[in-house]
Amino acid sequence: MGETVISIKDLSKSFGNHEVLRKIDIDIEAGEIICIVGSSGSGKSTLLRCINKLERQTSGKILYHDKEVRNVQKDINEYRSRVGMVFQSFNLFNNMTVLQNCMLCTRKVLHISKEEAFNRAITHLKDVGMAPYINAKPSQLSGGQKQRVAIARSLCMNPEVLLFDEPTSALDPEMVGEVLNVMKELAKTGLTMIIVTHEMAFARDVSTRTIFMDSGYVAEDVAPSELFTNPKNPRTREFLSRYL
Ligand code: ADP
Ligand code: MG
Repeated sequence: MGETVISIKDLSKSFGNHEVLRKIDIDIEAGEIICIVGSSGSGKSTLLRCINKLERQTSGKILYHDKEVRNVQKDINEYRSRVGMVFQSFNLFNNMTVLQNCMLCTRKVLHISKEEAFNRAITHLKDVGMAPYINAKPSQLSGGQKQRVAIARSLCMNPEVLLFDEPTSALDPEMVGEVLNVMKELAKTGLTMIIVTHEMAFARDVSTRTIFMDSGYVAEDVAPSELFTNPKNPRTREFLSRYL
């Protein structure tokens, strides 16, 4: 494992007087595949949204390569091109083709040439098996195909870290596998990944560390072999028992 890429220090987040994240400390090293599991409402999405600067923490810090990202739009955009996010609901632009979806951000945010944006799009659409669909509109695709396009679009930015918020939760069961397979392949490339998921077999097999969140706390942050075979925390045990 390499150097620390993202360091979350004493992070708390409240909505009104509801404390949703409580004193979170997590260091993420280059190449790590971190799966975050836990019940609905435990704060998993809010944590990812704080990491991606879609949500501002109430206290604590998030460091990217030892530096805090300044709260100005230019720096946030630059940071988001390094730390991308894939959403449960894909968030593709429905009025654009697959190719246009994949070229938009690289053109607008990275200001790369049309040719370079096209080449990146084709490369990453091939990676996810969606190159034959460049001219399709999202409405013509299945959920699994849409999510694979969304992943390709994120890869076009050449991110260092990709955050995934339940990327397969909106999919019909028969499409979950194709998206998880794409993510498994990505995990082998050295990309740093933080994945919120309810796919326990995937977390067990692919993650380098699994974090169990409970009521806004990191209740457990251990190797998957440890979490899935020997959970220390009674709440982890109870949570996992629901998946057996
Ligand atoms: P998870 O992703 O683990 O299901 P979330 O991070 O979405 O959990 O939510 C954690 C808690 O924070 C929930 O109780 C949720 O209702 C609350 N919450 C999330 N976003 C907001 C918001 N924008 N305003 C108020 N409460 C929120
Ligand atoms: Mg969530």
